[in-house]
Parts: sequence; C-alpha cells; structure tokens
Amino acid sequence: MNYKIALIRGDGIGPEVVTEAVKVMDAVGQRFGHTFDYTDVLLGGCATDAVGVSYPEGTAEACKACDAVLLGAVGGPKWDGRPAEQRPETALLAIRKDLGLYANLRPATLRPALADACPLKKETAEKGIDLMMVRELTGGIYFGKRDRYDTEDRGVEATDLMAYSEMEIERIGRRAFELARLRRKSVASVDKANVLETSRLWRSVMHRLAEEYSDVEYRDVLVDNCAMQLVKDPGQFDVVVTENMFGDILSDEASMITGSIGLLPSASIGDTAPGLYEPIHGSAPDIAGQDKANPIATILSVAMMFRYSFDLPNEAKAVEEAVDAVLAEGWHTADFDGQGDAIGTKKMGDLIAAKI
Ligand code: NAD
Repeated sequence: MNYKIALIRGDGIGPEVVTEAVKVMDAVGQRFGHTFDYTDVLLGGCATDAVGVSYPEGTAEACKACDAVLLGAVGGPKWDGRPAEQRPETALLAIRKDLGLYANLRPATLRPALADACPLKKETAEKGIDLMMVRELTGGIYFGKRDRYDTEDRGVEATDLMAYSEMEIERIGRRAFELARLRRKSVASVDKANVLETSRLWRSVMHRLAEEYSDVEYRDVLVDNCAMQLVKDPGQFDVVVTENMFGDILSDEASMITGSIGLLPSASIGDTAPGLYEPIHGSAPDIAGQDKANPIATILSVAMMFRYSFDLPNEAKAVEEAVDAVLAEGWHTADFDGQGDAIGTKKMGDLIAAKI
C-alpha cells in the first residue's frame, strides 16, 4: 500500500526527532512492502520566520490531502510574547480544530526495560501501568468565550466559559468505549459532577453509553480522586476519558509516572482522515540541535499512526517491539539512565530502524 504523510517538523528538536521517525517508517515500509510519500508542511515558529504567521494559508489543505500528519514539536522563547497570529501554540489549536481532531489519545505505558524510571513505589510500579487517556480536545473551557472587564469595587475581573454539548460528549465517549473493547474493556469517566453543570451533563451522556456498551466495565471518577489514584494505584486504569482541561492536566500526570517525557506518543483523531500524531513533549529549546533529543516518543507516535489511521496493527507492533528491544539492551539517550554512556538522537533512530 501507498500512504501519504504530511510532516510538520516544527521548531527546536522537532526536525531532529521527525527525521528519526521517518527513518523507522521507511524501515517498516521495506519490511512490510509499503511506500510512504512525505510532504513537508509549514507550521509553528519556523512558519512565522518564513512567512510571518505561524499557521500559513494552505497548511490545513496540505494536511487534508494526506492520510496522516506527523508533527515534531512547535514553540520556543523566540516567539513568546508575539501577537497571537505569530505564536506557535495558536497554530496548534487552530489545526486541531480545522482537522476536526476532537479526540486526543495518550497512552501511558511503563515500558518493561524502564521500570526503574518510574517515580512511584517499587511495589506500585511492579503491578504495571498500561492506561489510555482519552481527552476531549476541541471543546470546553479552552475554546469558550473569554472576557476581561473593569468592576466598580473589585478591580479587573476575568471569565472563561466552559460549555459542552451532548453531541461533543457522546462522540468522545463512543471513542473511549470502542477503544476499551480493543483493550481490557474498562472505562473510567472523569468529571466534577458534584460541582459543575457541564460535568453533570457529561455524566448523564456517559451513563447512557455505558448501557449501550454493556460488555465494557464502567465507572465515574471525580477529577480530584483521579489525580490521587494515578499516583496511588495507576494499574487500576485501562481507558480514562475526560474533558479538555481535566485531560490536559491528568495526561501530564500520567506521563510523569511512566518515566521520561521523551518516551510518550500521542494521537489526535476525528471522524475523518487525517489524524495527527505527535510526541507529548515540546520543542526542548535547551537541547535543540545538539543530537541529544530522545526520538522514541515520535517513533512510538508512528506506531499509533499505523494502528489508528492505517489499521496496520502488525506494523505498529513491529515498531513497539523494536523500541523495547533496543531499550532492553540498555541503550539510552541522556534524558534517562541505562547501561553505559548515553547515545545521541541519530544513533537511537538507527538502532530502532535496524531492529525493524
Ligand atoms: P519541553 O517538553 O519542550 O521540555 C521540558 C524538558 O524536557 C526540557 O528540559 C527538555 O530538554 C526535556 N525534553 C523534552 N523532550 C525531550 C526529548 N525528546 N528528549 C530529551 N529531553 C526532552 O517543555 P517546555 O520546556 O515547557 O516547552 C518548550 C517549548 O515547547 C515551549 O515553547 C512550549 O510552548 C512548546 N511546547 C510545544 C508542544 C507541542 O508542540 N505540542 C508541547 C509542549 C510544549
């Protein structure tokens, strides 16, 4: 098969990690008989430098012409404090919305070779961590109306509106239940229904879905309790589904308990192609251009692309197994410990591609 992939290399370490992921994709293509055609697409600080805006016209169209999008990372101090249309994060929010990517999937898996990197108690880590955080990505407080105004007696006041519709809740809920069916058949839905009206609506829609997906175990978890349970006993979770802001915070917490930020992939998907795949880390300006970045999160994002956009589970497994095999031999980049000296970005990419 032939697949078209848009590459958004981005800023900082983005171009370095995308180059290694492409190396691994090409190795998969060779082994399994696929071809991948790449189109470079401009977005982020590099786009501001090149054409004056972080989200150039034509970027969304170029992505829509492809089967999937792979993104390195965008942002950096150079563009902080610029007007909105020049800031890299504006472009990220806009492309997710324009591609209709309402579901963000972030697996938090403790890789066997890296159990020692888990900051939790040994007996907790030994139970294993393998959860999938499903975060609603295009609604809620991050997209609601915001305002700032003067008051007579309290100085300036600001508001952010959190709104959710049944449609938005139902489509993300269905994603979570469908994913659970492919995993350990358990969904935890996280809300704050003891306080928030949006959460009460969220909970009622989830309960309706839970009846429909009666083969999947279901429970409600309050967001504060979820934050505690993630450090106390993360092994209890399979699929965790939640709204945008709760998911933003909880998914970072879930990633920290599995060790290095350089290891964790993510997928953002909607009802139509293309999905967008990216590491969870940022552009790491402190190590950019030094061959120090860990490319594994981006390489594992490619595995998610194979599984969720191309329905190629064997190819996805081949990538994951190659990563585990290289880590099991003790190879590591400078962001975590292993046997011997740390290796660079390129060598890590070479080793993983060779294992494919
Ligand atoms: P960051 O993830 O870029 O870096 C945090 C720390 O982790 C740094 O010390 C960095 O060196 C290290 N790190 C990150 N990725 C690594 C990797 N692959 N290998 C080894 N070490 C790695 O987060 P930050 O410093 O808060 O943000 C830097 C810039 O990235 C900011 O401009 C921010 O807006 C942007 N950002 C972009 C995205 C995205 O593109 N999706 C996400 C988060 C942050």
